[in-house]
Amino acid sequence: MHLEPSMKQAVIRRTVRKFSETRLAPVTAEMDRTGFFPWDIAQEMADLKYFGLEIPAQYGGAGLETISHAIVIEEISRVNAAMGLCVAVHNGVSASPVYMFGNEEQRKRFLVPLATGKKIGTFCLTEPNAGSDASSLETSAVRNSKEYILNGNKVFVTNGGISGINLIFAAIQTDGERRRFSVYIVESEREGLEKGPVEELMGMRGNPVCPIVLRDCRIPLENCLGKEGEGLKIALTTLNGGRIGIAAQALGISQGCLDVSLKYAKERNQFGRSISEFGAIQNFLADMSTRIEAARLLVYRASDLKDKGLNHVKESAMAKVYASEVAVDATRMGLQIHGGYGYTKAYPIERFYRDAKACEIYEGTSEIQRMVIAKRLLNE
Ligand SMILES: Cc1cc2nc3c(=O)[nH]c(=O)nc-3n(C[C@H](O)[C@H](O)[C@H](O)COP(=O)(O)OP(=O)(O)OC[C@H]3O[C@@H](n4cnc5c(N)ncnc54)[C@H](O)[C@@H]3O)c2cc1C
Repeated sequence: MHLEPSMKQAVIRRTVRKFSETRLAPVTAEMDRTGFFPWDIAQEMADLKYFGLEIPAQYGGAGLETISHAIVIEEISRVNAAMGLCVAVHNGVSASPVYMFGNEEQRKRFLVPLATGKKIGTFCLTEPNAGSDASSLETSAVRNSKEYILNGNKVFVTNGGISGINLIFAAIQTDGERRRFSVYIVESEREGLEKGPVEELMGMRGNPVCPIVLRDCRIPLENCLGKEGEGLKIALTTLNGGRIGIAAQALGISQGCLDVSLKYAKERNQFGRSISEFGAIQNFLADMSTRIEAARLLVYRASDLKDKGLNHVKESAMAKVYASEVAVDATRMGLQIHGGYGYTKAYPIERFYRDAKACEIYEGTSEIQRMVIAKRLLNE
């Protein structure tokens, strides 16, 4: 058992940290305030292969293993959670399924632009009446001899406002057969695909999360990802990996929160001494740090299992539920350390607090993660 990062992983962390602090940190507050997406910085990230982290070099990616992928997401999110979300969703649940389930032709047409960051990807599962229960989705796909015709409404699409390639989950309508789902790759410029207004989110601002509406959207038969009817399998497999990315995102938010809270605790004086000398403040710092380390081990453990090709369903769910709850707790404690100033926009802690909450919701709520864990335990 190796608990130390390899030389390569340590270098990746240092490099991404430097990039995040020099390029992302200066725009984080403005992204949060105005919701703008920094295309120029995204281009630099594309040049660094952050949009093709685990995709092999032959398709334009960096060919990293999952632990390094998690480190990249963690370090970006430590400074800018909205960009962390962009990269986590793009890599984890958009580029990854196109690589895993796409045929060679689809990899050339769709994976290469995704991995090189020329197009940003989405994963469109949630609908107004299908959230935790994705199997109740209503978006339909009707097949004729040359194309599919898609109709339906997708909501909460991360990266929606900036996407070029969208993975749309829809139920295929065939006479007399039971309802089956498939995944359809739909380019943003296709007629019949419309993007709704960007959501006014509590956190993760700067990531343009929006609805996507499909109205008689016609796509060629070659745009069905994997086999027709494999949608549920693709969704579950993809989310198992994607959850490690969200756990890494939560970990980065927690670490960023601890770093600014430590700094503030050392700088702030009350009763004639630094507040870091008070036991109550030290308890917050000790609890935050201990839980962050525990979350980090869970994230790397799930990543390691995935890298070894072993089952990681339970471990991904554990990493996701634990790391996201640590992020919510750590940001609450961090805000408390900052006192009244933490409740203002003068310090980044209130943004961490808002950003953290989303990690408990997307790619399966904490309640759904617990169901996944319990189901595996009971079946083992
Ligand atoms: C910022 C953001 C970005 C997102 N990005 C994407 C995206 O890119 N793609 C995408 O497809 N979706 C995305 N989502 C949607 C997200 O995945 C869903 O919001 C989430 O799965 C929950 O669905 P819901 O909101 O419909 O809540 P519901 O399913 O209605 O759940 C409401 C509450 O009931 C609980 N609940 C539901 N069923 C059970 C059960 N069986 N047992 C116990 N409790 C239960 C839930 O845990 C929750 O607390 C995003 C959401 C947000 C907020």
